[in-house]
Amino acid sequence: MPNWNYPTAILFGNGRVSELPKLCEALHMHCPLIVTDPGLAKFPFILAIEQALPYAGMFCDIKANPIGKNIVAGVSVFKQGQHDGIIAIGGGSALDAGKAIALMVGQSLPIWEFEDIADNWLKVDTDKVAPIIAIPTTAGTGSEVGRAAVIVDEKNKSKKIIFHPSMLPQQVILDPQLSQALPPKLTAATGLDAFVHNFEAFCAPSYHPMADGIALQGMKLIKEWLPIAYHDGQNLNARGHMLSASTMGATAFQKGLGACHALAHPLGALYDKHHGLLNAILLPYVVQRNAPAIRDKLQIICEFLSIKKQPRQTDYAEAFLTWLCEFRQQLDIPNTLADIGIYTDDDIAQANTIGELACADPSASGNPILFTADQYQQLFHNAVSGG
Ligand SMILES: [Zn+2]
Repeated sequence: MPNWNYPTAILFGNGRVSELPKLCEALHMHCPLIVTDPGLAKFPFILAIEQALPYAGMFCDIKANPIGKNIVAGVSVFKQGQHDGIIAIGGGSALDAGKAIALMVGQSLPIWEFEDIADNWLKVDTDKVAPIIAIPTTAGTGSEVGRAAVIVDEKNKSKKIIFHPSMLPQQVILDPQLSQALPPKLTAATGLDAFVHNFEAFCAPSYHPMADGIALQGMKLIKEWLPIAYHDGQNLNARGHMLSASTMGATAFQKGLGACHALAHPLGALYDKHHGLLNAILLPYVVQRNAPAIRDKLQIICEFLSIKKQPRQTDYAEAFLTWLCEFRQQLDIPNTLADIGIYTDDDIAQANTIGELACADPSASGNPILFTADQYQQLFHNAVSGG
């Protein structure tokens, strides 16, 4: 039987970040810790936030794929500064790290005890989770409305999903002006990640009509506005729609994800590549393999997104794939994993059977076809060689 959880309080609009002091007051955060990406820490808008919150501290020692050690360091800064809440600002890594630090400030068990497996989340001392305000500056992960964080366990180089309902931020600010500075490459990779969230959620087989509706509209917004945000980063209309679509993707994917994410997680952990870029490269290969199980859904997507069948195309899977490959090309996304330096015959791929890791990833359970480790390995080979 399904459990439906819908997101949280969201302020949307240009300049809404100026309401942050008022929001902190409402959440009784008098001395918050700002958690952000190292690259963003010197941006004028972060400095302006620091000035508006005189008792705030700052923590930005976070890797692009945050590791367990980053969370331990953040917790120690939180305790030393006697902070009383987290303001997570940035891309997915800052938001995930901020949420994980908020979770861990009052726990006695190590973070890996709260991996999203079975009832692990019940081990969390809920009263001790710090309040969180999340402010995304990229439009991709949608981590601002998620109840989980992806953290790399550096001991075995695996990405672990840390889950607790209290990790859902109490308040989110979607301020398009804050994503204006995002460079085109990251705009494309994060935007396609958001597309994959909406797409995989829509194709996941469980019953969730609300998620389905949100996912369709999320894909439509991305089809219309991502190319504009990519070519003209200053376009606030496009930035706003992309922030919405990203939040919608993460809202929808409580229904499930799929094979694209099941492969992107181990590849991201082993090769330290950008999560969105991996998904952007992988998606057509996964769609091709899933097509027999999702023909009806691909027809609904094509009709809703106004993707027409080309002459001689017999089904919507072909039409969707043709459009998807053109769309990716328009955003200068490479066609194969080899193009970004991932090969099936190198030491990393040899030592770790990618297929087995993908098969064991929690996202695999949402895929319309439950692939075996061998089938995942084949998909990996296809995505490396372009076959
Ligand atoms: Zn993703």
